[in-house]
Amino acid sequence: MQTNRPYTYRVPESLTNQVMVGMRVIVPFGRGKREVQGFVVDTNPEQPFDGDLKDIIALMDLEPVLNPEMIALSRWLAKTTYSFWISCLYAMLPNLLKAKTHRLVRLTDDVAEAEQLNLFDGQDSLDLADVQNDPDIMHELVKLRRAGKIRIEYQVEDRARAKMVVAIQPSLQFEDYEELLAAVPKNAKAQKRLLVYLQQQTGQTIPLKLAQQQTGLSPATFTLGEKRGWLKKVKLEQYRTPMTKSLERDQQVTLNTDQQVAVDALNQAIKTDQSPVFLLKGVTGSGKTEVYLRAIETALASHQTALMLVPEISLTPQMVGRVRARFGKNVAILHSALSNGERYDEWRRIQMGLVDVVVGTRSAIFAPLKKIGLIILDEEHEVSYKQEDAPRYQAREVAKWRAKYHHATVLLGSATPSLESYARAKTGNYHLLTLPHRVNQQPLPPIQIVDMRQEPRQGGESNFSQILLARLNDRLQKGEQSILLLNRRGFSSFMMCRDCGFVLKCPNCDISLTLHLSSHSMKCHYCGHEEAIPRFCPNCHSQEIRYYGTGTEKVQAELNKLLPAARIIRMDVDTTRRKGMHEKLLQQFGNHQADILLGTQMIAKGLDFPQVTLVGVLNADTGLDLPDFRASERTFDLLSQVSGRAGRADKNGEVIIQTYNPDNYVLQLAQKNDYDAFFATEMRIRQQAQYPPYFYTVRLMASDPQEVVAAKLIQAVSERLKTSQLATDTVMLGPTPRPIARTQNRYYYQIVLKYRHDPTLITTLTQLAHETQAKGNLRFMIDPDPQYFM
Ligand code: ADP
Ligand code: ZN
Ligand code: ZN
Repeated sequence: MQTNRPYTYRVPESLTNQVMVGMRVIVPFGRGKREVQGFVVDTNPEQPFDGDLKDIIALMDLEPVLNPEMIALSRWLAKTTYSFWISCLYAMLPNLLKAKTHRLVRLTDDVAEAEQLNLFDGQDSLDLADVQNDPDIMHELVKLRRAGKIRIEYQVEDRARAKMVVAIQPSLQFEDYEELLAAVPKNAKAQKRLLVYLQQQTGQTIPLKLAQQQTGLSPATFTLGEKRGWLKKVKLEQYRTPMTKSLERDQQVTLNTDQQVAVDALNQAIKTDQSPVFLLKGVTGSGKTEVYLRAIETALASHQTALMLVPEISLTPQMVGRVRARFGKNVAILHSALSNGERYDEWRRIQMGLVDVVVGTRSAIFAPLKKIGLIILDEEHEVSYKQEDAPRYQAREVAKWRAKYHHATVLLGSATPSLESYARAKTGNYHLLTLPHRVNQQPLPPIQIVDMRQEPRQGGESNFSQILLARLNDRLQKGEQSILLLNRRGFSSFMMCRDCGFVLKCPNCDISLTLHLSSHSMKCHYCGHEEAIPRFCPNCHSQEIRYYGTGTEKVQAELNKLLPAARIIRMDVDTTRRKGMHEKLLQQFGNHQADILLGTQMIAKGLDFPQVTLVGVLNADTGLDLPDFRASERTFDLLSQVSGRAGRADKNGEVIIQTYNPDNYVLQLAQKNDYDAFFATEMRIRQQAQYPPYFYTVRLMASDPQEVVAAKLIQAVSERLKTSQLATDTVMLGPTPRPIARTQNRYYYQIVLKYRHDPTLITTLTQLAHETQAKGNLRFMIDPDPQYFM
């Protein structure tokens, strides 16, 4: 914390006119001669420094990696999220620029031969690390860079990550091949074909795969060609593009009246130089996406760019597909499942201004687009828009900041807006746009609640009520599809001894272990700890140790027994771990290669499959009892979202929700699809309990492997806060242990502050963070607007 400020360095003469704001530099730091990496945030410090200045040692970049907007944004971000400024600067860069990378300088244009010999030793690339301490060479390179004659490539030190393919190069001249052709025996047809091909390709580098396709020749023939010296094999770095599926152009639809009203309002806003925020509240299947696409078109037509965030790309491949279908190559995609290389390539395309539309997950909010006209957050209520690690930013707030900077319009979309956003729309802070009807004119599917307490129990507990089973069977007969949701929020499954009540817990965390049938083991979902399934109770050695609760694998097994004819696709963290599996499974379901899609939360959002007419929720109540004031809101969202997957085309849909709490207001209102009633009820509860949106929250947390150390620190923080000038209506909850008191062998203690208007709070907490030094393993964190309290 003490070092969380800018430092002043002298620009040595050798670097005159080269250092620019937004470049990374290497500087000496502290008393020793430690060299660290830093960012240039200013080249004209307001207060000239007249102590002894150290020199910048070297430039890491030949051009800025962060633009002035990003530098300004990072200042604001550091302040409002209580983070180190430098971690905010890093948060805006793709990983490749953070990891240990080789920076290769490559020649692009014809650089004079003398220069090439001089600087590059006759090669076409050099490693920047080898020359960055040589001011003369760096000076030349910066000049060449400005003239566009060289470019920089970043390669992770772990070479395996850069995607290389084998390619071939003809190694002879046209006439040489002519001679060889005349010399080869007449019946050597393959060799002849190869020679003709090579003759046509002189001067080219062709990926081997492609060459094989084009010629129909076997790899052996190419190897022979290599042996005879007709061609050379080289390694070629393949351009990594995240989605290679061909782009189909979509059809333009005619907007309905509600959509038109929304689009008109947005069009007008995008063309002004204000930065309004719109909340588009549209029931599932009401055509929100079409509104997004039209608004993006407007931004592009007025020579601006558009940024669109989705909660989790792998969960919403359909959305990405639709944006790409409309805007084609003009779209860059940024999400966490990309490799570092792919991500960097996409980032570069954005930075160089080669694309006008960016679709991505949370951190894409930092995409270096210029002239932004529109920022969209789809499913704006999703928790994934809040980053849980430092810097703990909320993408929604960053969107508003950037919108102000660019005079851009913000569009938040959801069927179930966060209470915070809807409250703002109601007070006129945001402009409310609504799509109350489904595009297909169908009503929302009717929802039936099944009381699982009333189900007959012959031969043990079943995950399926009789009615759900009958409906599944019915769909199977008709050849229609069903979606089954297993709610996995909370920790509802565990191994327990029936004799002594012992529950098998993770040795590192205060939570129970979950059974994984496929690996025949018990796993901790927090730290990854894994152990064998116990046969005896470790406590009393009884054999009566049983698994309670259920997982997707167990449900699938049961379903296979109950409906042997049904083809089932299971989607959960285990079946989708491998890259591309999400898309693949969804595609299979879309092609009707399965009758039932069974999955966790990840199937609840955004899917648009016309053949789905039945949605079943196996356990609606899990998660309702979590010690978190947003538990009801999340359950309502989940039920509304998943219900919306049924009956999206011309056939009617139907939803069945199984529960042990049929009278709970969340389920009752979800059944009626009554967001407004839910909003009103929940707002009253929040007001009484003084929670958002009436109050803001911030969580202070201390953690240490030794419980007493963490407890002592949080106690000290609490004392300190009591003597601070907090606003009179600011409320301090705690200190208490966190509900899950221990994870990964660290103990956590927390204080939650609730406040309405506390202008000095930021200063107080920043100071507190300064005073509260992390020592040894002890950590102290401040999390504004926390999304989890567990
Ligand atoms: P939401 O995002 O609100 O759940 P979608 O945008 O997925 O809804 O729209 C549901 C379906 O309706 C999609 O298949 C979409 O292509 C289609 N659609 C949207 N707008 C129209 C329209 N004006 N006319 C016809 N079909 C439309
Ligand atoms: Zn026991
Ligand atoms: Zn654990």
